[in-house]
Amino acid sequence: MPRTSRPKGTQDFLPPESTKKSRIETIFRELATVYGYQEVVTPTFEHTELFIKSSGTASDIVQKEMYTFTDRGGRSLTLKPEGTPGAVRAVLENNLHLPCRLFYISPCFRYSRPQKGRYREFYQLGVEALGEASPLVDAETIAFGATFFTRLGITDFTIKVNSIGCRTCRPAYREKLLNFLRENRGKMCPDCQTRMEINPLRTFDCKNEPCQQVLTSAPLPSSHLCPECHAHFQEVISSLKNSPFNWELDPHLVRGLDYYNRTTFEYVSSALGAQSSLGGGGRYDYLFEEFGGPPAPAVGLAIGLERTLLTIPASSPVFPPERRNLVFIVWTGPGEMANARELLATLRQQNIPALMTYEPVRLKRQFHLADLAGARLCLIVGEDEVRENTYGLKNLITGEQTTVPAANLIPAILALFNSPAE
Ligand code: AMP
Repeated sequence: MPRTSRPKGTQDFLPPESTKKSRIETIFRELATVYGYQEVVTPTFEHTELFIKSSGTASDIVQKEMYTFTDRGGRSLTLKPEGTPGAVRAVLENNLHLPCRLFYISPCFRYSRPQKGRYREFYQLGVEALGEASPLVDAETIAFGATFFTRLGITDFTIKVNSIGCRTCRPAYREKLLNFLRENRGKMCPDCQTRMEINPLRTFDCKNEPCQQVLTSAPLPSSHLCPECHAHFQEVISSLKNSPFNWELDPHLVRGLDYYNRTTFEYVSSALGAQSSLGGGGRYDYLFEEFGGPPAPAVGLAIGLERTLLTIPASSPVFPPERRNLVFIVWTGPGEMANARELLATLRQQNIPALMTYEPVRLKRQFHLADLAGARLCLIVGEDEVRENTYGLKNLITGEQTTVPAANLIPAILALFNSPAE
């Protein structure tokens, strides 16, 4: 392959996929705004340490997936593998007052084996509710993601929920799990043999069948919660019971990052194959402290844009109509071109998307160009029309053609654009 081709694991978003991508982003932005979130935009790269501190040395991300490089000043920098650490760092560094709700839409980078739904550059849509401890915020965050999928027309998903405890209950549980894992060490994969010593909970993430087999009889985090974590989790559950969404407890759900405590959740779709996770999140009450800030509770989620796109059903409102609200102006000869250009400028001034060709090509070719552009209607500027101060208006969906007096043109276009496209 020539070196000028797309790097492995990356994608080009071309129309109409690019239109769908931006529709998904708009719907996410709108919903996040409705839930009181404001946008945060953080750098594409951060100091490598930030991600090591947050994701944890035993995480797959830190162990094998980061795009890390040394800049010309000798600093170790990493392209962000996820959005949360940068957002939390930005809040701390800029002394934002808590509570504070932020959302982001950002490219993320992970060096993993590309496959359907897994890329080396991908987009995450995320929300972070910072400074809020109530289990109702966990429940609200879970419902937020589910509402987002529902708005996109995605109904085929299940929410998996678990609680992995806190600083009070986790140490004793960790010991118990570690002892269990050590007893079964020989049956587990080499990765898990290392993982268990650094972060035994991480072994629940392992996809290897023998490890999964061992873990079926492992002590579970949710059965070892302290009374506070138990009460917190019960409240999340009772809130879910009142929600219209499909959800289930998954006692093995620990999620791939070290910073989570208490609630963890994931949206899973059977439409996706091996990479079945549409998004996920959880509570991370210790991350602020980890970054040197004051203690602050927090909960967030991140949704994968590409997997969302893959899951969207054909009937979804994000699918753009075959023809878009675009006017293509067709002109018959050099005498009419000036009128056509004037019309083009007028339409654009009125925020009506419009195009024409400046090439002196035949009418048939111009109509073909209108089709290629996906225009919804053509305006015809011919000798007769100019003389009579009218326009020919051809609806490219129905093929219907009418003559419209110049004074009625804009209302006629708007009426057509505001009517259903198909
Ligand atoms: P995580 O930060 O690993 O919890 O991921 C959150 C969501 O981001 C996942 O549920 C996926 O939808 C998406 N995601 C994570 N890694 C990738 C990847 N390599 N390619 C595409 N999407 C991804």
